[in-house]
Amino acid sequence: MDHVISGVAKFQRDVYPEKKETFKKLASGQSPEVLFITCADSRIDPNLVTQTDPGELFICRNAGNIVPPHSNQTGGMTASIEFAVAALGVSHIVVCGHTDCGAMKGALDPSKLDSLPHVKEWLGHCRCATEVVKEKEGALGVEQLGEVTKENVLQQLQHLRTHPAVAAKLATNSIQLHAWVYDIETGLIHVYDNDAEGFIEMEQAYAERKLAANA
Ligand code: ZN
Repeated sequence: MDHVISGVAKFQRDVYPEKKETFKKLASGQSPEVLFITCADSRIDPNLVTQTDPGELFICRNAGNIVPPHSNQTGGMTASIEFAVAALGVSHIVVCGHTDCGAMKGALDPSKLDSLPHVKEWLGHCRCATEVVKEKEGALGVEQLGEVTKENVLQQLQHLRTHPAVAAKLATNSIQLHAWVYDIETGLIHVYDNDAEGFIEMEQAYAERKLAANA
């Protein structure tokens, strides 16, 4: 913990003075463009990976980058999504999964989670992903970790569409959804591409989107 505490002192001494104007502006409000939903895993740093600054990403994190489907029960994710979309007016939502995800490993074998009852129940929101992969691959084990990770991101995007605030913005094309998978070892991000019907490298995915938009 010591290095965390001394890190704050370093921030206040070395980093804050250089960005004083930014923080002054941010002190009275925020207008992020992107709602970024990712795993709580300590190895992911959304601002580092996207090279963004405070104020640019509205970040929601939890084990497995899960978005519970909308219901009348209030939860932290539901409230945060509603706030980001309906109050802050974000125009993009990224759901970002990652390689070597502990939550996805748990989803592959829930029987090992008996001592973690809340984790087990939470990962129930990934069942669509595991069922889809099982059906497609004819098996469900560690070999399917990559596929389940990708499928889970797509299923959580489906869940996002059930949230009224998101559905309303989608109806008027004023919000875009993005499915990403971040590779911790290589730093690469793969993005779901509708035309390719699969995940392709980010640079290629967005070059194609741009071409399609200009066509
Ligand atoms: Zn994870």
